[in-house]
Amino acid sequence: MPKLLLATNNPGKVREMQALLDDLGVQLYLPADLGLHLHVTEDGQTYAENAARKALAFARASGMIALGDDSGLEVDVLDGKPGLHSHRFAPWPDATDADRRAYLLQQLQGKPRPWTARFRATVAVATPGGDVRYALGECEGQIIPDERGTGGFGYDPIFLIPSLGRTMAELAMHEKNRLSHRARAIQNASQILKEWLGV
Ligand code: IMP
Repeated sequence: MPKLLLATNNPGKVREMQALLDDLGVQLYLPADLGLHLHVTEDGQTYAENAARKALAFARASGMIALGDDSGLEVDVLDGKPGLHSHRFAPWPDATDADRRAYLLQQLQGKPRPWTARFRATVAVATPGGDVRYALGECEGQIIPDERGTGGFGYDPIFLIPSLGRTMAELAMHEKNRLSHRARAIQNASQILKEWLGV
């Protein structure tokens, strides 16, 4: 069976990606399965640059085709912040997802609602030889001031999907995986994966 390495150590992303790629007919590997402990600095200027850095670093180190993603939350009333800096948004060391949500809500205090926002994801698929191809996905919603739900990760408990009246964290994983930014990007990457992996 063809092999694909997931170029991420984020457990929330790993769970979603494994489910999203389940039907592809490839053997999925995680960096830990190969004893790979790479730290990739995410200081690119775009999601694509960061996604490519991750995918290329892991593809080169493993000799396998690798899929990396970079994603972020863009809130309109904050001029698109935290965006590329979604993971490092709370300005203290070792911040948790809960800290980042609390910090975001602090920044939104007093700003007019609805706090419209979107998640964006760029997936990069890279070969050990250095070829990279990209796919994009996004998901529109609103930030709400109170956390709801226990599923997902990151900003999910405060990200409402207005058409469903539920936050991302109130969705079962198979529901999130039908509409999330990452799901859409991986869906859009499926042709690339099929071509490169021969499935
Ligand atoms: P990165 O792609 O590893 O740089 O991380 C992006 C950050 O955006 C994550 O650490 C989360 O804080 C946030 N994020 C990305 N995707 C999601 C999602 O599906 N739900 C909630 N937060 C997300």
